[in-house]
Order: sequence, then structure tokens, then C-alpha cells
Amino acid sequence: MQPDHETRGLAQHWQILIGMLAGAIIGILLNSTQGRSEAKVDVDALPPGLTSLAIVDSPDRVEIRYKTTDGDQHKIIVDGRQGADADVPTIDKLKSSHPGVYRWFADHGRSTSRIVGDSARKFGGLFLRMLQMVAIPLVVSSLISGVMGLGDASQLGKMFGKTMTYYLCTSFLAIVTGLIVVNVIQPGVGQEMVFAGGEKVVGTTSLSETLFAQLESLIPKNPFHALANGDFLSIISFSIMFAICALIVGGKTASFIKDFFESCFEVMMQLTLFIIMLAPYGVFLLMLYVTSTHGASVFSSLAWYMCAVLTALGIHACITLPLILRYFAKRSPWEYARSMSPALLTAFSTASSNGTLPLTMACVEKRAGIDNKTSSFVLPLGATINMDGTALYEAVAVLFIAQLHHGESLPLSYQLIVALTALLVSIGAAGIPHAGLVMMVIILQAVNLPIEMQGIILAVDRVLDMCRTSVNVWSDSCGCAVVGRET
Ligand code: ASP
Repeated sequence: MQPDHETRGLAQHWQILIGMLAGAIIGILLNSTQGRSEAKVDVDALPPGLTSLAIVDSPDRVEIRYKTTDGDQHKIIVDGRQGADADVPTIDKLKSSHPGVYRWFADHGRSTSRIVGDSARKFGGLFLRMLQMVAIPLVVSSLISGVMGLGDASQLGKMFGKTMTYYLCTSFLAIVTGLIVVNVIQPGVGQEMVFAGGEKVVGTTSLSETLFAQLESLIPKNPFHALANGDFLSIISFSIMFAICALIVGGKTASFIKDFFESCFEVMMQLTLFIIMLAPYGVFLLMLYVTSTHGASVFSSLAWYMCAVLTALGIHACITLPLILRYFAKRSPWEYARSMSPALLTAFSTASSNGTLPLTMACVEKRAGIDNKTSSFVLPLGATINMDGTALYEAVAVLFIAQLHHGESLPLSYQLIVALTALLVSIGAAGIPHAGLVMMVIILQAVNLPIEMQGIILAVDRVLDMCRTSVNVWSDSCGCAVVGRET
């Protein structure tokens, strides 16, 4: 399968970049020129029961003044940014507290930039729905086919243990690096942007309660219920247990299940690639929404966010993994990186671990001299479940969004949920472009953040995807050297 969809003409990442720039430019222009409007409603157009109605809409404040037929004057002021902060009256709150007043505002008082932004949010939301639609089936089929790719259950043994230990340790180290960097740089703090749809979750439960709840969800009472509800942890753990037991049963049953889920995975991957073809439009609409309602200020926080992701990826790829390579595999990191360079560069340009897999295997065997027994076991499994770069990226991105949403650094218990979910999500993510982005919806939902806020980071996802995919492939390759030396 092609690693990325190149439609005739422009490569997809260029299309996405153009979509992003166009959305941002139009949005910023609209915000600066059409972001404010003042409307005094004509007598003939007045809603029943009113003698006057005036509305001022500006990006950060909406003022509605009206006089009723019995002579009473009223003034309502709400925060112009879309959001649901507990203490601030917002347009969304107005919708439920004063539905009639909200209707007048929607009918008579919205500025052009707000009208455009609201529509872009609705249609961009369709793209996000599609991403949500594929997430669960993609995870289930990717995990089951990946685990079953191990072959005979009797061969799982030692190598499985070592490989899994390596995967878990490096993903854990990657996430810790991400957490440290995002807490030091704090790219989202001081940039409060409140979006619709989320509730504050900070400090609602203790650390032990939250961890135990995570543990409980690893054992779903009813896997079908978990599937229907998108309960991600339950789905992952059940899929792994299911695949391992299918391997143990073996024979016709195992080969039937393996073939079935491999086919499902291929189909889901294809569907995802089709959806990703819509990314330029999705990016355009979501950027338009973000910038037309919030203006250019969004970019300053985005630069710090990119800096945080790239710094953390750099530390993991250039310090942590080379140290592991040096001390556990007794290999020269520089030499090993040189042997792997064709695969690393291909991973960078395709943003797909799966697409790069044949080349990774060739480099590991032919250039780095690792034996085929190790590489054929470690690499395919790694391309599916070992994604250090993705795990790190998920943690940084979600905490960045959380910082933006809550306007402050977040408590450890909250960060731990993000870290744990990021680890599991990276295990479940497919090795295709933007898979990490697709999966992030699950973490955002797990910590109750508005998924619309993904629109902010979507714009720079391609470039970060290229970097994290190289780190994913680099970690798989180092895993071969570590596991290969010991077996
Ligand atoms: N593109 C990445 C990979 O193939 C997955 C991701 O989106 O993080 O490894």
C-alpha cells in the first residue's frame, strides 16, 4: 500500500500547508477587518415584545441592550470567545440561559467574522467526526493483526518479553521527556483560549482514584459495551488478550482470525487514507474558525508548542536512545544511525512507519548486521505498537491543549492520565500519516477537553508527524540492536 496519498499534481503535505495558510490568512483578515459589528435593529424587524434592540459584537465581548414594551431596559454582556468556562458568561451559556436573546444575537447581531467562523466550525467538525469514526476500528484491527503477526504462540516467549520491555521502557522515557519539556516551556500557559464543549476536570478526583479507575477500565465488564462507548483502554486490553488467546488456540482458528483482522486493518487503513485526503479542506476550515474568532494571537502559542514537541523529540532521539544503544546494545550510536539513515529519511518524508517498514528491515539486516530472526519479529510489531515519537507527541500536544483550555499548568494526577492514555494510544496507533492525530481524539475525550481545539495543532501536524515518525522508526531500529544482542 502506498504510504501516503499523493493526488495528481501537488503532494498532500503541500495541499495541507496551503489549506492551513489560506484558512489562517482569510481568518486573520476577517478577524481584523470584520471582527466587530454594531447593529441597531429596525422597528419593523424587532422581535415581539421589544421596543428597541442593539447588539455590539466584538471578538472578546458581546453586548446586547434591549427595551421591552413595558418600558424595562436590559443589558446583557458576555465573553465574545466561544467557550464554557465555569465562571464566565459566554455566548454558549447565553444559548441555554437566555435562548430568546441568543436567537436575536444569531439573527441580527453577529459580526461577519463570527458568522464565517461558526460555519467553518460546523463543517470542519464533519472532518473531525470522520477521524473519530475510524479511530476504534483502526485500533482494534491494527492491534489484533500486529500481535497475531508474532506467529506461533510457543515462539512468543523470551523474545516477546524482551521486546515488550524495550518498547514500554522507551515509550515511557519518551513520555517523561515530553512531560518535562511541556512543563518547562509551558507553551499554552498565558494564552487562554476557551473553546466550546469541554468541562473543567482539573482536581476533580485524587491520583489513586484515577489510577484505579484506569486499572478497572483495563478489565471491561462487557467488551461490546466498551466498543459501543468508545472506551479506549478497555478496547485495547481486550484486543490484546483476544489476540494472544487466538495465538494460543492456534491452528485454523488462529489463521482465520489473523486473516480476518489483517483484512479489516487494510480496509480501515484505506478508509483513513481517504479521510486524510480531505485534510487540506478540514485544515482550511478549522484554521478559518480558529483565526476568524481568535485572530493572529493563536500563532505565538503555536510556535512554542512546536518548539516543545521538537525539543522533546530531539532529546529522546539524540540522547536517550543513543545512550540505550551504547550501554545495552554496545553499538556506536553514530555508526548505527548512519546505517539506518535511508530508513530514517524515508520515514521523515513519508510520515509512515508502515510504509517505511521494508526499508527499515533491509537497513537493519544488510547495513547494521542484525540477524533476520530478530528483525522480522521486532520491526513489524514495532511499526504497529512501538511509537516513542507518537507517545511523546500525544502527551505534549494534549497538555498544550489543556494548558490553553485551562489557562494554567495542570496537576500531576491530570498529567498522569494523559501520560497513561498517551502510552496506550501510541500502542494502538497505526503506522500511517496522521495516525497520532486520529488517536488524539481519544485522549482529548478521556480528559474531557473540547475536540475542536485539535484544529489549532492540526495546522502544524504534518511537519511534526514527519519528525515523530523518524523517531518511531529510530526507536524500532535501536530495539532490534538491543533485543538482537541479547538473544
Ligand atoms: N505517522 C506516524 C507513524 O507512521 C504515526 C503518527 O501519526 O504519530 O509512525
